[in-house]
Amino acid sequence: MSNHIYTNFHGILLYRKPYKEHDLLIKFLTAEAGKKMFFVRGAMKPRFKMTADILPFTYGEYSGNLSPNGLSYIISALDISHYNNISQNIDLNAYATYIMGLIDAAFPDSTPIFRWFNQLFYGLRLIDHGIDPAIITNIFEIQLLPVFGVAPQLKHCVICGRSDLPMDFSEIYGGLLCENHFSMDPRRMHFDKRTIYYLRKFSVINLKQIRSIKVHHQVKQNLRMLLDDIYKNEVGLNLKSKHFLDQMNRFHI
Ligand SMILES: [Zn+2]
Repeated sequence: MSNHIYTNFHGILLYRKPYKEHDLLIKFLTAEAGKKMFFVRGAMKPRFKMTADILPFTYGEYSGNLSPNGLSYIISALDISHYNNISQNIDLNAYATYIMGLIDAAFPDSTPIFRWFNQLFYGLRLIDHGIDPAIITNIFEIQLLPVFGVAPQLKHCVICGRSDLPMDFSEIYGGLLCENHFSMDPRRMHFDKRTIYYLRKFSVINLKQIRSIKVHHQVKQNLRMLLDDIYKNEVGLNLKSKHFLDQMNRFHI
């Protein structure tokens, strides 16, 4: 590796996977080069010096070799931090893991996605600071839909374009229906005003600007039901981390 030129990069650790007896494969979402898989030789050995730098829910600045397509390497950690509350709380851990799984599923490796690096950085920070993780998760789910090729119309009525009337969501039409066109879909969601308000708001909200957010329980249930339908029927994603999250939430109730 003596000919490699090392570069500094910013990364959020997405996951770790044991490799052979003593090594690890770890995936970072980097600010500079998108998702990258790193090979860390000897990471599972007792005296490995970078153990704390590559724990789950770590982010920061590292130095290494970013390979254009193959495995990348880390040489040293320059300035790293941990999302401490997330790593110590199994609930927060489950939400954060699912969000990172969504981002991993949504984008190919080695494609710069700086906006999503920022969204993930601030999203995890909000969860770590005690903001409702179910809400932060909903925001990621809604904003990732266009990336998955499903782009519900949340700006105005899909039939007439009006946005000044009471609205409801229609799965068949893939977006909002205004009151004048409720009859077009008898199986529309029948959501209350607040649910529609948050559905629209979450589709455009910048996570960096959130300081606090409180949403009524019924709204949360409605959004959960709608997003589960859309992810199941239209996105077709089947993440282990989502099953775990669902199980965990059933267990709590
Ligand atoms: Zn209409």
